[in-house]
Amino acid sequence: MALLKTNGVIIKTRDYKENDKLVWIFSESQGKITAIAKGAKKSRSKLFTCTLALSYGEYVLFQGKNLYTLQEGKINNSFQGLMGNLEKLTYSSYICELIDICLEEGEKNEQLYKDFITCLYLLNTDALDYEILIRSFELRVMKATGYGLNFDNCVMCKQKISTSNYMNLTYYGGVCDKCEKVHGINISRAAYSALKFLNHTSMDKVYRLTLTKEIKKEVEKINTMIISSNYSKKPKSLEMLKYIKE
Ligand SMILES: [Zn+2]
Repeated sequence: MALLKTNGVIIKTRDYKENDKLVWIFSESQGKITAIAKGAKKSRSKLFTCTLALSYGEYVLFQGKNLYTLQEGKINNSFQGLMGNLEKLTYSSYICELIDICLEEGEKNEQLYKDFITCLYLLNTDALDYEILIRSFELRVMKATGYGLNFDNCVMCKQKISTSNYMNLTYYGGVCDKCEKVHGINISRAAYSALKFLNHTSMDKVYRLTLTKEIKKEVEKINTMIISSNYSKKPKSLEMLKYIKE
């Protein structure tokens, strides 16, 4: 057994036996891993706080044959500010769920890890359109896992395009006016521009974008279609938010 130390965020937890917990950590050095945290269900355990969902800390783990064992954890940021706001809590649960769905056990992705931490920090701030931030994060997840969208070239003939009114969902991108519009959906040029902007802009600058409710809906629809048809499971965290908002 080898001992290792890594930064990471608890993205999912499950009770295990009487006092233990299983925790899923999106870690900087090992990617998405599952660890057993012995005794962590007890409030006096030294593992209690660092194994709560959304805890961000430095974790010391033993790497066993099938599973890691969590030895200790030191909290960097527990993102408690996210807990007091239902919208922020739902979005942060959602990005954790997305990571869980899009990465295999042991799959590492440094860029996605950085984006994930940035997204949590930005959710933890105020005066930001969280919905737009989440769409931006989704585009990053897609890019990092091989489903990046192409807005600069027609995905059929490769000709350069600056805009489009059709997204091909087999080749993940826009289609020019001359090519056949199949295997995808119509999209307004405004929504196309919004997606293109989000795809090319870092998350800390998405606040520059303002979108109408209709455009937001279109952008959400495109992302949701790609996410739900390409990953192993369909994310469920946002369903509650829809129910609350309507
Ligand atoms: Zn074309």
